[in-house]
Amino acid sequence: MTTAVYAGSFNPFTRGHLDILCRGLMIFDRVILMLGVNVDKPAQAQTIRQRAEALGRELQPFGDRVEVVICTGLVAAEAAAHNASALLRGVRSASDYDYERSMAATNRLISGIDTVILLADPKYEAVSSSIVRELEGYGFPTDQLLPSPADIAEAASSLRKQ
Ligand code: ADP
Repeated sequence: MTTAVYAGSFNPFTRGHLDILCRGLMIFDRVILMLGVNVDKPAQAQTIRQRAEALGRELQPFGDRVEVVICTGLVAAEAAAHNASALLRGVRSASDYDYERSMAATNRLISGIDTVILLADPKYEAVSSSIVRELEGYGFPTDQLLPSPADIAEAASSLRKQ
Protein backbone atom coordinates (compact mmCIF):
# COMPACT_ATOMS: atom_id res chain seq x y z
CA MET A 1 0.00 0.00 0.00
CA THR A 2 1.60 3.30 -1.10
CA THR A 3 0.81 6.52 0.73
CA ALA A 4 1.56 10.12 -0.22
CA VAL A 5 1.16 13.20 1.93
CA TYR A 6 -0.32 16.25 0.25
CA ALA A 7 0.44 19.15 2.60
CA GLY A 8 -0.89 22.67 2.36
CA SER A 9 -3.15 25.21 3.91
CA PHE A 10 -6.15 24.35 1.66
CA ASN A 11 -7.85 27.52 2.86
CA PRO A 12 -10.10 26.87 1.05
CA PHE A 13 -9.78 23.55 -0.85
CA THR A 14 -10.09 24.52 -4.54
CA ARG A 15 -10.77 22.74 -7.81
CA GLY A 16 -7.00 22.91 -8.41
CA HIS A 17 -6.37 21.02 -5.15
CA LEU A 18 -9.02 18.44 -6.10
CA ASP A 19 -7.33 17.90 -9.45
CA ILE A 20 -3.93 17.27 -7.82
CA LEU A 21 -5.55 14.98 -5.23
CA CYS A 22 -7.26 12.85 -7.91
CA ARG A 23 -4.14 12.65 -10.03
CA GLY A 24 -2.18 11.69 -6.90
CA LEU A 25 -4.67 8.87 -6.33
CA MET A 26 -3.85 7.52 -9.80
CA ILE A 27 -0.25 7.08 -8.59
CA PHE A 28 -0.68 6.23 -4.89
CA ASP A 29 -3.14 3.96 -3.08
CA ARG A 30 -3.80 6.57 -0.41
CA VAL A 31 -3.32 10.32 -0.07
CA ILE A 32 -3.21 12.04 3.31
CA LEU A 33 -4.10 15.73 3.19
CA MET A 34 -2.06 17.46 5.86
CA LEU A 35 -3.31 20.85 7.00
CA GLY A 36 -0.59 23.04 8.48
CA VAL A 37 -0.91 24.64 11.93
CA ASN A 38 1.16 27.56 13.11
CA VAL A 39 2.15 26.46 16.62
CA ASP A 40 2.57 30.08 17.69
CA LYS A 41 -1.12 30.70 17.06
CA PRO A 42 -3.24 28.34 19.21
CA ALA A 43 -6.49 30.18 18.26
CA GLN A 44 -5.73 29.27 14.66
CA ALA A 45 -5.24 25.63 15.69
CA GLN A 46 -8.89 25.46 16.76
CA THR A 47 -10.05 26.80 13.38
CA ILE A 48 -7.75 24.40 11.56
CA ARG A 49 -9.21 21.49 13.52
CA GLN A 50 -12.70 22.54 12.41
CA ARG A 51 -11.56 23.01 8.81
CA ALA A 52 -9.86 19.61 8.81
CA GLU A 53 -13.06 17.95 10.06
CA ALA A 54 -15.15 19.77 7.46
CA LEU A 55 -12.72 18.84 4.66
CA GLY A 56 -12.68 15.22 5.85
CA ARG A 57 -16.49 15.15 5.54
CA GLU A 58 -16.34 16.81 2.09
CA LEU A 59 -13.87 14.19 0.86
CA GLN A 60 -15.78 11.22 2.25
CA PRO A 61 -16.72 9.99 -1.26
CA PHE A 62 -13.07 8.88 -1.61
CA GLY A 63 -13.53 6.50 1.34
CA ASP A 64 -10.40 5.28 3.07
CA ARG A 65 -8.16 6.31 0.15
CA VAL A 66 -8.17 9.89 1.49
CA GLU A 67 -7.58 11.05 5.04
CA VAL A 68 -7.36 14.59 6.38
CA VAL A 69 -4.98 15.25 9.28
CA ILE A 70 -3.50 18.27 11.01
CA CYS A 71 0.21 18.92 10.93
CA THR A 72 1.62 20.58 14.04
CA GLY A 73 5.29 20.06 13.29
CA LEU A 74 7.54 19.46 10.33
CA VAL A 75 5.66 18.07 7.34
CA ALA A 76 8.50 15.71 6.41
CA ALA A 77 8.71 14.26 9.94
CA GLU A 78 4.95 13.80 10.19
CA ALA A 79 4.80 12.28 6.72
CA ALA A 80 7.45 9.74 7.80
CA ALA A 81 5.39 8.98 10.92
CA HIS A 82 2.43 8.18 8.62
CA ASN A 83 4.69 5.82 6.58
CA ALA A 84 4.32 8.02 3.51
CA SER A 85 6.56 7.06 0.62
CA ALA A 86 6.31 10.51 -0.97
CA LEU A 87 5.09 14.07 -0.62
CA LEU A 88 2.67 15.27 -3.29
CA ARG A 89 2.66 18.87 -4.56
CA GLY A 90 1.35 20.85 -7.51
CA VAL A 91 2.97 23.66 -9.49
CA ARG A 92 1.15 26.37 -11.41
CA SER A 93 4.00 28.64 -12.42
CA ALA A 94 7.74 29.18 -12.50
CA SER A 95 7.64 30.81 -9.08
CA ASP A 96 5.71 27.82 -7.64
CA TYR A 97 8.36 25.60 -9.22
CA ASP A 98 11.28 27.47 -7.64
CA TYR A 99 9.64 27.25 -4.24
CA GLU A 100 8.66 23.58 -4.59
CA ARG A 101 12.11 22.65 -5.85
CA SER A 102 13.84 24.00 -2.76
CA MET A 103 11.17 22.56 -0.43
CA ALA A 104 11.53 19.15 -2.09
CA ALA A 105 15.32 19.24 -1.77
CA THR A 106 15.12 20.22 1.91
CA ASN A 107 12.49 17.61 2.73
CA ARG A 108 14.53 14.90 1.03
CA LEU A 109 17.64 15.99 2.88
CA ILE A 110 16.01 15.92 6.32
CA SER A 111 13.80 12.86 5.94
CA GLY A 112 14.81 10.94 2.81
CA ILE A 113 11.24 11.33 1.53
CA ASP A 114 10.98 12.40 -2.10
CA THR A 115 8.41 14.77 -3.57
CA VAL A 116 6.21 14.01 -6.56
CA ILE A 117 5.39 17.30 -8.27
CA LEU A 118 2.47 17.41 -10.71
CA LEU A 119 2.02 20.24 -13.19
CA ALA A 120 -1.25 22.10 -12.74
CA ASP A 121 -3.93 21.38 -15.30
CA PRO A 122 -3.99 24.54 -17.50
CA LYS A 123 -7.70 24.91 -16.56
CA TYR A 124 -6.70 25.47 -12.94
CA GLU A 125 -3.40 27.33 -13.33
CA ALA A 126 -4.96 30.59 -12.21
CA VAL A 127 -6.85 29.07 -9.28
CA SER A 128 -5.48 29.78 -5.84
CA SER A 129 -6.92 29.84 -2.33
CA SER A 130 -5.79 33.44 -1.90
CA ILE A 131 -7.76 34.53 -4.99
CA VAL A 132 -10.84 32.74 -3.62
CA ARG A 133 -10.44 34.50 -0.25
CA GLU A 134 -10.03 37.85 -1.98
CA LEU A 135 -13.15 37.36 -4.14
CA GLU A 136 -15.12 36.19 -1.09
CA GLY A 137 -13.99 39.34 0.71
CA TYR A 138 -15.78 41.35 -1.99
CA GLY A 139 -18.83 39.08 -1.82
CA PHE A 140 -18.09 37.79 -5.32
CA PRO A 141 -19.28 34.23 -6.18
CA THR A 142 -16.48 31.66 -6.18
CA ASP A 143 -18.38 28.52 -7.30
CA GLN A 144 -16.25 28.24 -10.43
CA LEU A 145 -13.13 27.88 -8.30
CA LEU A 146 -14.41 25.56 -5.56
CA PRO A 147 -15.55 21.96 -6.04
CA SER A 148 -19.20 21.25 -5.21
CA PRO A 149 -20.20 18.03 -3.39
CA ALA A 150 -21.36 16.73 -6.80
CA ASP A 151 -17.93 17.46 -8.33
CA ILE A 152 -16.23 15.55 -5.51
CA ALA A 153 -18.65 12.61 -5.80
CA GLU A 154 -18.08 12.49 -9.56
CA ALA A 155 -14.29 12.67 -9.19
CA ALA A 156 -14.34 9.82 -6.65
CA SER A 157 -16.60 7.69 -8.80
CA SER A 158 -14.51 8.16 -11.95
CA LEU A 159 -11.41 7.13 -9.97
CA ARG A 160 -13.19 3.92 -8.91
CA LYS A 161 -13.76 3.11 -12.60
CA GLN A 162 -10.04 3.41 -13.48
P1 ADP B 1 0.47 26.58 0.48
O1 ADP B 1 1.17 25.31 0.79
O2 ADP B 1 1.34 27.60 -0.19
O3 ADP B 1 -0.40 27.12 1.56
P2 ADP B 1 -1.84 25.56 -0.86
O4 ADP B 1 -2.36 25.00 0.39
O5 ADP B 1 -2.76 26.46 -1.62
O6 ADP B 1 -0.50 26.27 -0.74
O7 ADP B 1 -1.44 24.41 -1.86
C1 ADP B 1 -0.86 23.19 -1.51
C2 ADP B 1 -0.23 22.62 -2.75
O8 ADP B 1 -1.17 22.60 -3.82
C3 ADP B 1 0.97 23.40 -3.30
O9 ADP B 1 1.88 22.46 -3.85
C4 ADP B 1 0.38 24.25 -4.38
O10 ADP B 1 1.35 24.60 -5.36
C5 ADP B 1 -0.64 23.28 -4.95
N1 ADP B 1 -1.72 23.99 -5.63
C6 ADP B 1 -2.49 24.99 -5.16
N2 ADP B 1 -3.39 25.39 -6.08
C7 ADP B 1 -3.17 24.61 -7.18
C8 ADP B 1 -3.77 24.55 -8.49
N3 ADP B 1 -4.73 25.39 -8.86
N4 ADP B 1 -3.30 23.63 -9.36
C9 ADP B 1 -2.29 22.79 -8.98
N5 ADP B 1 -1.68 22.81 -7.78
C10 ADP B 1 -2.11 23.71 -6.88
